[in-house]
Amino acid sequence: MSRVVLVTGGAGYVGSNACKALADAGYLPVTYDSLAMGHEWAVRWGPLERGDIRDEARLGDVMRRHRPEAVLHFAASAYVGESVVHPAEYYSNNIAGSLNLLNMMRREHVDRIVFSSTCAVYGAPEAMPISEGTPTDPINPYGATKRMVERMLADFGHAYGIRSMSLRYFNAAGADPSLEVGEDHDPETHLIPIVLDVAAGTRPFVTVYGTDHPTPDGTCVRDYTHVSDLASAHVLALERLSESGARPAINLGTGNGVSVAEVIESARAVTGRPIATVAGPRRPGDPPTLVADARLAARELGWRPAHPSIEAIISTAWAWHQARSVGTAQRRRAAAV
Ligand code: UDP
Repeated sequence: MSRVVLVTGGAGYVGSNACKALADAGYLPVTYDSLAMGHEWAVRWGPLERGDIRDEARLGDVMRRHRPEAVLHFAASAYVGESVVHPAEYYSNNIAGSLNLLNMMRREHVDRIVFSSTCAVYGAPEAMPISEGTPTDPINPYGATKRMVERMLADFGHAYGIRSMSLRYFNAAGADPSLEVGEDHDPETHLIPIVLDVAAGTRPFVTVYGTDHPTPDGTCVRDYTHVSDLASAHVLALERLSESGARPAINLGTGNGVSVAEVIESARAVTGRPIATVAGPRRPGDPPTLVADARLAARELGWRPAHPSIEAIISTAWAWHQARSVGTAQRRRAAAV
């Protein structure tokens, strides 16, 4: 019998890729997802249990029926801008939801959890690259909720023996190279899918949020990390937790800083299409540069990104973008018949 892992948010972008990585490693991922943001089509490697992480009765029932040995916890509200406008939803879903999940784990004797955290816990540090020793000082409710859950995990570790590892991702990007799952947000706010919409002709231009940042070309610099690499790190983290106690939070990034202008230039090269840009004002709350010091992930987990270059990331994202457009057109045609 396969070893069962409960994946909250397993129908989402990173969560569904993690389900694939779990299945490849011989686990059975059981997805627990409200489908508020996730997609039923992205659940392909194990059963889907529809539910909200704040729903104690439902979560308890799912845990008792599937008896997972561990949890990968992705379910969360995850738009930085929205978190500023609607913090109540972020504190409720991310903090109260995680607390409920941890309490149900205690009750059902599940003692390992890998948590989907974020570089947003660091806020806007000046010194680059960002190591795990950089003080955490989130500048928006999203980052604050993730930092609070990290703290909750540490406290639950000391008091109740729940072993956890928090993985702080930098910018998740790209798509599963075999195109089984990929990014599909509504609304889409992320740079690479927007740039590819422009390449595909479904948006007229991309607005560059700020060309006067204190960076080499004036546009923001980020550390884009392939979603399949993030996914494989979760399996490594799970296995590390099986053989040890709680581990410190770990950055997941490539260590390569890429500017918005460089992303657009690379997307032009990958797609062979023109991509129109409009210079816009800075987006509130955007730190100019976020780049990981990812050495701890290599040391702790033996993690080495398989797709570190921005070209590889954009190539897989473009292949997925095109495959998805064909799929959408087919679904529309089928619906019209
Ligand atoms: N960005 C941009 N135009 C867009 C979307 C994003 O210039 O239409 C910039 C944004 O300011 C940031 C970078 O692209 O510097 C990455 O943004 P994204 O929303 O993809 O990820 P974030 O860094 O906010 O998590």
